Amino acid sequence: MNKDIPYKIYLEETEVPKQWYNVRADMVNKPAPLINPGTLKPMTAEELSGVFCDELIAQELNTTDAYIPIPDEIQKFYKMYRPSPLVRAYCLEEKLGTPAKIYYKFEGNNTSGSHKLNSAIAQAYYAKKQGLKGVTTETGAGQWGTALSMACAYFGLDCLVYMVKVSYEQKPFRREVMRTYGATVTPSPSNTTEIGRKILERHPGTTGSLGCAISEAVEAELTRDGYKYVLGSVLNQVLLHQTIIGLETKTALEKYDIVPDIIIGCAGGGSNLGGLVSPFVGEKIKGNADYRIIAVEPASCPSFTRGKYAYDFCDTGKVCPLAKMYTLGSNFIPSPNHAGGLRYHGMSPVLSQLYHDGLIEATSVGQKEVFDAAVQFARVEGILPAPESSHAIRVAIDEALRCKETGEEKTIVFGLTGTGYFDMVAYGKYNDGEMEDYIPTDEELEKSFAELPQVNL
Ligand SMILES: *Cc1c(COP(=O)(O)O)cnc(C)c1O
Repeated sequence: MNKDIPYKIYLEETEVPKQWYNVRADMVNKPAPLINPGTLKPMTAEELSGVFCDELIAQELNTTDAYIPIPDEIQKFYKMYRPSPLVRAYCLEEKLGTPAKIYYKFEGNNTSGSHKLNSAIAQAYYAKKQGLKGVTTETGAGQWGTALSMACAYFGLDCLVYMVKVSYEQKPFRREVMRTYGATVTPSPSNTTEIGRKILERHPGTTGSLGCAISEAVEAELTRDGYKYVLGSVLNQVLLHQTIIGLETKTALEKYDIVPDIIIGCAGGGSNLGGLVSPFVGEKIKGNADYRIIAVEPASCPSFTRGKYAYDFCDTGKVCPLAKMYTLGSNFIPSPNHAGGLRYHGMSPVLSQLYHDGLIEATSVGQKEVFDAAVQFARVEGILPAPESSHAIRVAIDEALRCKETGEEKTIVFGLTGTGYFDMVAYGKYNDGEMEDYIPTDEELEKSFAELPQVNL
């Protein structure tokens, strides 16, 4: 039945998706809208235009069009590093001795080293089209900032990046890549913004968080003419751009009549996972197919598995709109674990609704077991994975080992979101046997939940 399946399934140029897929159009229960914390009414396009680009706002609010054309300029840029390969992990399967068939979609084949470029180039394009001078943003581990710097350089936009302090210090090389692409990089919290100064006062010595950096980047945008703020995850528009991953994956699988049983992705703000699974969730919603879809998060920042589904601020400084999502509370500052890209207190509203409706499941894993999987994978598949991506590897391996016990020949697909060359401090800790994991106590989470905004809609 199956044609011989190559190690890498590539797509022809004619097979490459020309539209993004907007799963919200097919969702029966739509994700809750962003609301204005002042009026407690859904944010209008006009209110959002203070912060975001117009075209991106239209995408953010669009719950009706299932397909949105990818502009030619973006398609052209995508051609430089896409389509990304869907790889059959033959070597890993053999090493594990599993009857399972494992595939991974590899998004690390570009200089920024992750999937983030898929949305960065789209956001830079719309900012340029609107005639802006530049954009401001935050970056956690640095992948988003790097991707955005590349995209801004391509379109000739200025790029101001607030980088979470722990990463700024741990990843000087990533900072230099951004500067090489022309970005200005500031460690956050900083004393260059009012909110940064406030956070420093309240938490002296803090290593920062994405939530803090977002507040600073938004303030930087609001105090400058010709700038808008852009965000690398969580938002509906970002998920939309990332569906290029899932659409390519689905086309590649169909080319060889492969039907996945389990689809796995790591979840920070949810953009890569949402992008990978959206087309499959769409099929599931329509009753055309059934898949197990698993979100994997760090035990130190367990938004899905231990969070509350509630309206919350997207940032620590409470300057952004409220989003209904699985959240640990916007004041929650996760311990400085090594998967910086997964240290966000909330989760994409789209994925939150899908999780709430039982269309996807979630699990959390500890840092040490994640690096065990990362090293195991690196040694047989040849790719040194990002710590974030390795969360998905961990669960893919666990599922494959379960198949070994039961003899089931399941087909497992996971998202390998990026490479880990800038994460060698983390690998060093692991190699020295010094990897620690701080898992928040129920008490700490309760304390954070108590500070959730009281919104009764
Ligand atoms: C940012 C990042 C993630 C997590 O972000 P999502 O928005 O949840 O996808 C995962 N992997 C890598 C390599 C990243 O850079």
